Amino acid sequence: MARYTDPSCRLCRRARQKLFLKGTKCFTEKCPVERRGYPPGQHGQSRRTKISEYGIQLREKQKVRHMYGLMETQFKNYFQKALRQTGRTGETLVKLLECRLDNVVYRMGFAPSRKAARQFVCHGHFRVNNKPVDIPSYLLKAGDIVQVREKSKKLDVIHASMKRMKDTSMLPWLSLDKAAMYGTFLNVPERQDIPLNADEQLIVELYSK
Ligand code: ZN
Repeated sequence: MARYTDPSCRLCRRARQKLFLKGTKCFTEKCPVERRGYPPGQHGQSRRTKISEYGIQLREKQKVRHMYGLMETQFKNYFQKALRQTGRTGETLVKLLECRLDNVVYRMGFAPSRKAARQFVCHGHFRVNNKPVDIPSYLLKAGDIVQVREKSKKLDVIHASMKRMKDTSMLPWLSLDKAAMYGTFLNVPERQDIPLNADEQLIVELYSK
């Protein structure tokens, strides 16, 4: 599956906010938003500030898409799926994205970023309900248990990431047993509980044109 391989923090500059795509980099002053808080490219510093309605919608979509590390086709597929379900499409879209295995591995603290989580999953470090799953897009259901594979339990990258997680910061729809290295996806989260600084309604408007 194709993925974005250009410099991650270039996208922070485009979104004008830290996206934490690379894990630790955005926590430091190395994230170029600190030094160059204007959009990347030749015209990043130009005085043109008027951005069209379409531009605003597009930027918001790109931001969310990059945060979850998806290519356009995949992202749009989630939108189509959300559209077919009852309820508010924007909210459903965000909830669907939150159910992805790579996202949950990241949220549980087993990986420092979604990008790293995706790689860990692809490399077979995780099991879901005791079965090996190496598909980052695997959608979790309420009650699913995500475990670090026995053979992978001594991996430094996973331990280093878990050490950074504060015990109090686990999200309300997830539970984690740090010692046993497994977590439970208790339920699909409510939109207001999801820490995602984005207006998904703009995405709905963009795709509804
Ligand atoms: Zn950054």
